[in-house]
Amino acid sequence: MTDLKKLTIEKAHELLVNKEVTSLELTEYYLANIEKLNKDLNIYIEVFEDCKTQAMEADKRIAEGKMLGVLDGIPLALKDNILIDGKIASAGSNILKNYRATYDSTVIKKLKEAGAVFLGRTNMDEFAMGSSTENSAYGVAKNPIDKSRVSGGSSGGSAAAIAADMAVATLGSDTGGSVRQPASLCGIVGLKTTYGSVSRHGLIAMGSSLDQIGPLTRSVEDAEILFNAIKGYDAMDSTSVEYPALIDLPAGGKRIGIPRGFVGEGIAADVLKNFNDTVEKLKSKGYEIVDIDLPNIKYSLPVYYVIMPAEVSTNLARMDGVRFGLHVDGANLFEDYSKSRGIGFGREVRRRILLGAYVLSAGYYDAYYKKAMDVRELIRGDFARVFSGPDRVSAVITPTTLSPAFKIGEKTTDPLAMYLEDIFTVSANVVGIPAISIPSGFVERDEVSLPLGFQIMAPHFREDILFKIGKDVS
Ligand code: GLN
Repeated sequence: MTDLKKLTIEKAHELLVNKEVTSLELTEYYLANIEKLNKDLNIYIEVFEDCKTQAMEADKRIAEGKMLGVLDGIPLALKDNILIDGKIASAGSNILKNYRATYDSTVIKKLKEAGAVFLGRTNMDEFAMGSSTENSAYGVAKNPIDKSRVSGGSSGGSAAAIAADMAVATLGSDTGGSVRQPASLCGIVGLKTTYGSVSRHGLIAMGSSLDQIGPLTRSVEDAEILFNAIKGYDAMDSTSVEYPALIDLPAGGKRIGIPRGFVGEGIAADVLKNFNDTVEKLKSKGYEIVDIDLPNIKYSLPVYYVIMPAEVSTNLARMDGVRFGLHVDGANLFEDYSKSRGIGFGREVRRRILLGAYVLSAGYYDAYYKKAMDVRELIRGDFARVFSGPDRVSAVITPTTLSPAFKIGEKTTDPLAMYLEDIFTVSANVVGIPAISIPSGFVERDEVSLPLGFQIMAPHFREDILFKIGKDVS
């Protein structure tokens, strides 16, 4: 029997092409792992009962010589906020626990056309708010590497599914780091794409000017495969864009910047050492590493935690107990709303709705929301400066997180400590540029080796740079 452990998309495709395995066998392999481990790890919220049928359809195509491409017959899992026609998508929330999608999101439409098999939906922080999946209405998704630790968030289930060998690859969504941070904590690759490159049609919205769907994979090559499958202009998403023609890179794309002043702060010594080791590796591959100054990057986190709740409070207004999901009867319409929302939403979601309504309210709008939008422009300006001009760099690198996976419960009573998880990741969302987290080795905590990642950010539309550097250091 062929060894199916920890397959990449590339390897699984090769096995399918050579008829060494069928899509049904692959699917059954993952189903067996899910059956064995999921009760304890809580990674999948639901396994789709028709996944074997999907696999058999792929096998039929393959047997008839009509294979659709590299994703045909590949078992994937999806974050619980991506709509599939006829299936429940609950965004990890009680309020949508029984909400059944009535159409396919654009990414699903594309993946269906590519022949992918959908195994099920993965656990996540409620409405993608969090860094540990502890805000999920279904309970925490444990880290397969150390079950006493979190898998990160909000796409923790999608990252852990790969680490626990419960899928070849998965999709998540990233509003402030939710693909990259769990990827880092689970030792895999996570890509946040350029804002507008992947359609958000059919993604349950969190912060609409920040959200992007992105792949979580075992290799950089796989991230590229999934990105190519899901990207592209979509008339159903008014913020979706066509890619411009790419220009040549200065210094052959070999000059990379580090915002040194920003990277050193609050970081554990061994995590910093791990990052510096990656820098040395890049140098040995011929990269020129320069210090850069991004004076406003330190404001990314506060800016994010004003803009994001504002957008959250607006987006979640549609969850009123009437149009979607849970309905709780009150004495009048206002009570219907307040009871449905009060019972349907968890604490973190309610906290952010309140914060968002506050920063958007008359009298505070100028002081908070407008100011945050102004500073957002300054941060954009910082990146535009380092990515243009004669001394420009092709990429900026940082660690992905300040530390490896933390203990379950460690940060639940301290929302600010939880928000700090995003310190390195949020700027890419604030600016709209692409960024990737790539495994960079391990550090020891309580005698367990825990994975870390480092992050590469590139100018808008330059995922190609992320893939090139990523492949060079992997
Ligand atoms: N951890 C961040 C937050 O809680 C990011 C979430 C995300 O990217 N969806 O907002």
